[in-house]
Amino acid sequence: MNAIGAHEILMPALQPKDIWDTTGRWDTVDILYKLKGAGDQDLALGPTHEEVVTPLITQYVQSYRDLPKAAYQIQTKFRNELRAKSGLLRGREFRMKDMYSFHAETAEQDEFYEKSIVAYKKIYERCGLGDITYVTYASGGIFSQYSHEFQTVTEYGEDTVYKVPGTDIAINKEIIKDKEVLKELLPDYKDGDEDNLEAMKAIEVGNIFKLGSKFSDAFGKKFQDKDGQLKPIYMGCYGIGPSRIMGTIAECLSDDKGLVWPKGIAPYSVYLISLAKDPDDIQKAEALYADLLSKGHDVLFDDRSNASAGQKFSDADLLGIPHRVVISKKTIAENQVEYKKRTEDKADMVSLDDLLKKISE
Ligand code: ATP
Ligand code: MG
Repeated sequence: MNAIGAHEILMPALQPKDIWDTTGRWDTVDILYKLKGAGDQDLALGPTHEEVVTPLITQYVQSYRDLPKAAYQIQTKFRNELRAKSGLLRGREFRMKDMYSFHAETAEQDEFYEKSIVAYKKIYERCGLGDITYVTYASGGIFSQYSHEFQTVTEYGEDTVYKVPGTDIAINKEIIKDKEVLKELLPDYKDGDEDNLEAMKAIEVGNIFKLGSKFSDAFGKKFQDKDGQLKPIYMGCYGIGPSRIMGTIAECLSDDKGLVWPKGIAPYSVYLISLAKDPDDIQKAEALYADLLSKGHDVLFDDRSNASAGQKFSDADLLGIPHRVVISKKTIAENQVEYKKRTEDKADMVSLDDLLKKISE
């Protein structure tokens, strides 16, 4: 998000009713959590943030020189989902990365939208889902004919998408009926060709929309063009569900031993197992831990004295940390450690220098 010019902010989750009245969504958004604040004030718990971000950012937009602008946050969202299920995949409280962009021209908004698609693909790539995540034409565009979803193909998905052959593009179930989209995506499209497309179950891990000036209009915000005329501010919104992605990664990348975190998002980089029993060896294990930390590595130190070696090995696999390092009486005697990647079966004895190279790769 930073790379395409957006700035990180954090907006409130508690939102007053009047901003939801301004856009007419207090009564129409069915998943909105409504609550009473002090003094009987009506409040919503934010399911999305157009109502907050639009008046916030447009305060700083007077003339065409103040555009474009984009801001994003990574925040907890609340939605009173009818059926919350599958743990992280659909919660009533979940994480979202939501970005909002503001533009003077639709052409400039289109350009930013395309950039966001490229950025999103890189994100799914780093999350280890690049190969199975499709840019998907979906209904639900407020301003344009469709929006784009990012759909990760897995049997655990609750959505159905249709693959456009030879591409990383798919079409959502609701839009597969749209002839214009079919003509755009399928060369020499003939009626009925859509029946031959492969249907796949998928999880929606992101969704981007062009909003037009729907929200800026609702708040009565415009900008002054070069010739002094007041013009509409065009907006886009761009959402990713980080907590749903965690659930998706757990479903798609795990093996029979447990989780397998891609290194870019692993909670720790190294799982350090100490099997040391003698005070001298325990001290060496602790020194190794401190050394790795001081060199900037994220280390989860398994120095439990009440767990067996087997338990520690199976927990290391279960948690899916990319690098496993074992220090024991035997490795200390050889002035080495034992090293294994989470994705490999075989462990090797390596020197400390080699270990640092391997975990820095
Ligand atoms: P869905 O169709 O699955 O209900 P949505 O289209 O309502 O999702 P968006 O408003 O597009 O969701 O939200 C942006 C992203 O936030 C989604 O693409 C998804 O990754 C994530 N997300 C949405 N709802 C949830 C939820 N209840 N639990 C976890 N993640 C969610
Ligand atoms: Mg969506």
